[in-house]
Amino acid sequence: MSKQIRRTKIVATLGPASESPEMLEKMIAAGVNVVRLNFSHGTPEDHQMRADNVRAAAKKLGVVVGILADMQGPKIRCGKFKTGKTMLEVGQKFILDADMPLDDGDDERVGLTYKELVGDVEPGARLLLNDGLLVMDVDEVIGQAIHCTVVVGGVLSNNKGINRAGGGLSADALTDKDKEDIKTACAIGIDYVAISFPRDGKDMDYARSLVRAEGSNAGMVAKVERAEAVLDDNLKSIMEASDAVMVARGDLGVEIGDAAVPPVQKKMLRMAPKYNCPVIVATQMMESMCENPIPTRAEVNDCANAVLDGTDAVMLSGESAAGNYPVEAVQAMHRTCIETEKQRVMPSIHTREARFPPLSVDECIAHQAMEVARSMPIKAIAAFTHSGNTVLYMSRHLGDVPIYALTTEASTLGRVTLFRNVIPLCMPVQYSATEAPKATIDMKNKMLKDGLANKDDLIIMTFGTPMGESGGTNAMKIVSID
Ligand code: PGA
Ligand code: MN
Repeated sequence: MSKQIRRTKIVATLGPASESPEMLEKMIAAGVNVVRLNFSHGTPEDHQMRADNVRAAAKKLGVVVGILADMQGPKIRCGKFKTGKTMLEVGQKFILDADMPLDDGDDERVGLTYKELVGDVEPGARLLLNDGLLVMDVDEVIGQAIHCTVVVGGVLSNNKGINRAGGGLSADALTDKDKEDIKTACAIGIDYVAISFPRDGKDMDYARSLVRAEGSNAGMVAKVERAEAVLDDNLKSIMEASDAVMVARGDLGVEIGDAAVPPVQKKMLRMAPKYNCPVIVATQMMESMCENPIPTRAEVNDCANAVLDGTDAVMLSGESAAGNYPVEAVQAMHRTCIETEKQRVMPSIHTREARFPPLSVDECIAHQAMEVARSMPIKAIAAFTHSGNTVLYMSRHLGDVPIYALTTEASTLGRVTLFRNVIPLCMPVQYSATEAPKATIDMKNKMLKDGLANKDDLIIMTFGTPMGESGGTNAMKIVSID
């Protein structure tokens, strides 16, 4: 009996809690589809080791797991404190000092990783530290020192993040560290590169050019987490320029305010299908599971709503990287998705009507296959695909029929791990021009052998003819398993 198919994909961030071979095996068995290597932490060797462990575990379990390398971006951090931390009281003065050494902080001042912050703020600007837990207002900028008054107090410890309310920082999306990390990630051979804090599509185009220059055809993920990025025109250009977007609710919530995040998430999920752009909903999805073995009702609801709104993937951050219950967190997401997917997912406003015709041939075939799948008792869609584009278009329909991506391309297997309702299937050989009949027989046998279909089931098959030529899908066939 095959395992119940979950449509929505699970992305899990790796860290000390989840990087060992044993743990990775458990997490993948529990349902992780894509792992996230967080380049904000760890050395190139750490990332290589994690990727090696993931590949070994996935191979052992006979599944494909995608790898996403997440660049740190211009995340502004305070320096370190001599005593590790300071206690900030409401009303007290505190200085962010770009001139002081990064490890010399005390109860009056601390250093800054991003010296340009000094030029980006003016009296009255509000700074949010440690994901918004601490708030200070800028009184004046004297030389390289930003003098502030604490508005919301608490403990400030080493290397905490700093955001400016409302955005407006001049930092480029790609730092020198990111450029080095892109090289490392491409050498590891990842499936996706995530860019932090892009402002618009141009930032993504530039990031893509760096990745391509390394000879990698990894997909580009834009983390939407900057106030500028959610302006209509910028969001549109980001979706056009990206292979997926992430609703990066952590930094986004700090920049635009927590209450503004849910409407942005809904808007992104509504817009994305028009641009054939998969979506990852991220941050604090199962946050309480860092400490507890079960999620809160609110967390389950949050995850379920993302599923109902048609997200491709839900993501674990600290829960899987450093929490006490990484496997349980994956299980909680898995069962929430499965249960929610029994309901009709909100139909997407997508489809041809919402786009500007003419569509490409492969996109038309993909749409028509989905129409047929709605009109007949179709068990599965078997799409022979080189680039993965056909299954991307199909999956934008948010249908129920599982879409199998049959390909010989390792990079395509990795890429489709993120797509809602798409399951990668490795085909051992590339068929030659006249081999469509053999491909059909092989496909039927594979579906039967893997328990994906039974005798007499109807399957929609899509492919490009003549086979073996890189060209794109131009044919659809309805076949019965015999
Ligand atoms: P981060 O990005 O975890 O790398 O900060 C996600 C977010 O900001 O939500
Ligand atoms: Mn972030």
